[in-house]
Amino acid sequence: MPQTEGDGPAATRTFTDVACTVCGCVCDDLEATFVGERLTHVERACRLAQPWFDSLKELPARPAAMIDGRAVSLDEAIDRAAGILAESRAPLVWGLSRSSTEGQRAAVLLAERLGANIDTTASVCHGPSIMAIQQVGESTCSLGEVRNRADLVVFWGANPVKSHPRHFERYSVDPAGEFIPNGRRDRTLIVVDAEETATSALADVFIKAPHGGDFELIWALRQLLAGVELPEDLDVGVPREQLQQLVERLVSCRYGVVFFGLGLAQTSGSHANVEALLRLVEDLNGRTRFAARRLRIPGDVSGADSVLCWMTGFAFAVNLSRGFPRYNPGEYTANELLERGEVDACVLVGTESIKDLSAKARKTLSELPTIALDYPNAATGFDATVQFTTAIYGVHAAGTVYRMDEIPIPLRRLVASNYPTDDEVLQAIATRLRCC
Ligand code: SF4
Repeated sequence: MPQTEGDGPAATRTFTDVACTVCGCVCDDLEATFVGERLTHVERACRLAQPWFDSLKELPARPAAMIDGRAVSLDEAIDRAAGILAESRAPLVWGLSRSSTEGQRAAVLLAERLGANIDTTASVCHGPSIMAIQQVGESTCSLGEVRNRADLVVFWGANPVKSHPRHFERYSVDPAGEFIPNGRRDRTLIVVDAEETATSALADVFIKAPHGGDFELIWALRQLLAGVELPEDLDVGVPREQLQQLVERLVSCRYGVVFFGLGLAQTSGSHANVEALLRLVEDLNGRTRFAARRLRIPGDVSGADSVLCWMTGFAFAVNLSRGFPRYNPGEYTANELLERGEVDACVLVGTESIKDLSAKARKTLSELPTIALDYPNAATGFDATVQFTTAIYGVHAAGTVYRMDEIPIPLRRLVASNYPTDDEVLQAIATRLRCC
């Protein structure tokens, strides 16, 4: 229950333990104050979260539904969306990382009903990491374990100071934990990256890896760890002495964790780089306790993976056209489907990742009939054929999102909204399709 001051429509209500869904940290310790239905102040929002919350203070008055840019009734828009999908022979459902479990489940059910391709934004993000995890498995842990136990923290190809501003403070570097009583002083921070970054500037050890040389570097570390001498002429771009010192640090910790980002997963080598890192972590577990975790970017991309996985067995790139799920990255991923022109209608559950598609895929998308569902403060500039503005989970509607370590975080409804949730819209389209 919020703390309330005054009464009537201008009462001030302050909610504590509000979850922020702007990035995969899903910090759930924010404080949001509303005067009446208007958000006036947010405590503990980081520099990424603050502009997002500021945009909620004066939400643009977007209609709940539009067809070709013209405001229409919800019913009319649902009819038109169902009509587009009923005529489609190769629909694609894509996005899902700015939603919640409820919306994601409705999207998968709609895709199932349509026999569609369904893909998440992971395919333009950590898709290669998912493929690597499927190959080698993952020595995993929660962020709570990191906070309480990790005395060695490695960031590989990631710059959380910029991408996840409160990761250090809440989970990985600064907080005191059960077995880390002195917080930062009890931890060693290592950064491996091709460039100096805001994160590397705070590290105890910075290893400058050559661009595109992660795989060779990790394999050399595995060799040293196994006690195999490196060939004289082998050059992995890092001095041998530094490699040897790194191995010694990795094995001498009590509990280590490596967080890896797109600087590893989306550079040359992609899933092979991640496979190599996961195998290194497996090797390290023969000597100490070590875990590996992805740094996920959008607020609920982990939820999108999880829901798709529960319902189809696969986390992204799924084709349901034969009545059973088939999985093949590169074949059923949104970018490639669009580039090859193998889609004739698209349902976009969130549009923020359109910018990450290739120019060719974006061009195809702009020529297709599209149905887009997005929050009122979304600013992607994408003109869909049918556009739904939906309630924001965690502000206008309750829901569940998954933090980057796959811990589900409940979201509360803080204020009322006339917008439907994406779950309601997707269910309504599926119901209307039964009548088409
Ligand atoms: S770190 Fe991420 S989840 Fe936490 S407040 Fe900042 S944007 Fe929100």
